[in-house]
Amino acid sequence: MQAPQVTFPASAVSPSANAPARAALLAAAAAHFDDGDFVRTLARRVAIRSSSQDAALAPELHRYLVDEIGPTLAALGFAWRVHDNPVPGGGPLLSAERIEDAALPTVLMYGHGDVVRGQDEAWTRGQGPWTLAREGERLYGRGSADNKGQHSINLAALALLRQQRERLGFNVKWLFETGEETGSPGLSAFCAAQRQALAADVLIASDGPRLSRERPTVFLGSRGVANFALELKLRAGGHHSGNWGGLLRNPATVLANAIACLVDGRGVIRVPALRPPPVPTNVRRALQGLVFGSDPGDPAVDPEWGEPGLTPAERVIGWNTLEVLAMSAGNPAAPVNAIPPAAKAWMHMRWVVGTRIDGLRDAVRAQLAAHGFADVQVSEPEITQATRLDPDDPWVRFTLASIERSTGRAPVLLPNLGGSLPNDVFADILDLPTVWIPHSYAGCQQHAPDEHLLAPVAREALQLMTGLFWDLAEQAGTLPRRG
Ligand SMILES: [Zn+2]
Repeated sequence: MQAPQVTFPASAVSPSANAPARAALLAAAAAHFDDGDFVRTLARRVAIRSSSQDAALAPELHRYLVDEIGPTLAALGFAWRVHDNPVPGGGPLLSAERIEDAALPTVLMYGHGDVVRGQDEAWTRGQGPWTLAREGERLYGRGSADNKGQHSINLAALALLRQQRERLGFNVKWLFETGEETGSPGLSAFCAAQRQALAADVLIASDGPRLSRERPTVFLGSRGVANFALELKLRAGGHHSGNWGGLLRNPATVLANAIACLVDGRGVIRVPALRPPPVPTNVRRALQGLVFGSDPGDPAVDPEWGEPGLTPAERVIGWNTLEVLAMSAGNPAAPVNAIPPAAKAWMHMRWVVGTRIDGLRDAVRAQLAAHGFADVQVSEPEITQATRLDPDDPWVRFTLASIERSTGRAPVLLPNLGGSLPNDVFADILDLPTVWIPHSYAGCQQHAPDEHLLAPVAREALQLMTGLFWDLAEQAGTLPRRG
């Protein structure tokens, strides 16, 4: 997506005469955490069992929006409304807006009220998924990190600003969905239908991890995903290897070699069409010096893996990967001396903006055929889109400068997340610059037992979000507008 054509001073946030008021607001944000208010609110939200992965809990999705989010927004002067999902069986959505003045910039915010399954029996910490429990600096509970804790921080930051200023000083719209953990059914259809109602100048939202717990992070999109299967079925049943080995092609051997013509033994993608364009200079610059996998418990990074000539940061953020997720042939639980009849591999690609992903199936087929594997079947890929806002977009510079002002340290800028989010809905359908400020960290065990939010990260995030909203209000007149 193109950055809007506006000029914007490089040092966007200059200390103003209102610095003491800003500092007081950040102090109030810290106090909001320290006095337990934030944790009490989050505990109430975690207690609602809004798993979108359990059909029996569907009423809880609605309850989360109507009992928690709607009233919170109403108290902040938002008009809100719950919508049925345009896709049958999809969870409800909530939209809300508080328009102070059409002349002011409008921020669209996003959160998801659903969580993954509780996995109740598997928790080893806290008090299970549905009771927020503090142990040391960790706040255990399902959704504490993904995404209830994160949108609760942003809602609280807006409330803190409003308490101090009466008016926010800018317009805000909110969109909540309740199907993110099942692939966001209906989200793109809903946004396409509500394009006017959701029109804004920027998306600011929070989900996913920081680079590391100590480093406030901003990311501008996400890599895309493409999943497809390779399959070679040669005959109906297995055949004795002593009688038939040497006479019959082995589909597992053939498939292993077919995979090797797509991605080599060090993880380098060999299909030209599946490789991205060179990493843009400003993406390289943003990634310079960033170290991934530095939190305690992270696995050791393999220095000799992946595309040669790229740093580890460039490999995970600025490049594509092609992985084997699973493979099968014969019966691994009880191997027998036979030529298996068939083999299958489940392939998985993460890809960045600029990759011609629509041609994936044709490109894979052509590569296989060129290497003598034309009979390997390639399934239709399942694709989610990649997005990346230009790191030089004025909204990015504004956000980085504001966070630095609040925390005293330049935040990490990731041009896109290594993982995926439904960000194409905002970047492509709503055509917004997208700025994500994650309030969790990679070790938070989201989607697993013992999910937790880190108290010091949440406390700091409350401050940097109130600071960001303060700066938005203070600089509303100079911020870039859409359309
Ligand atoms: Zn999630």
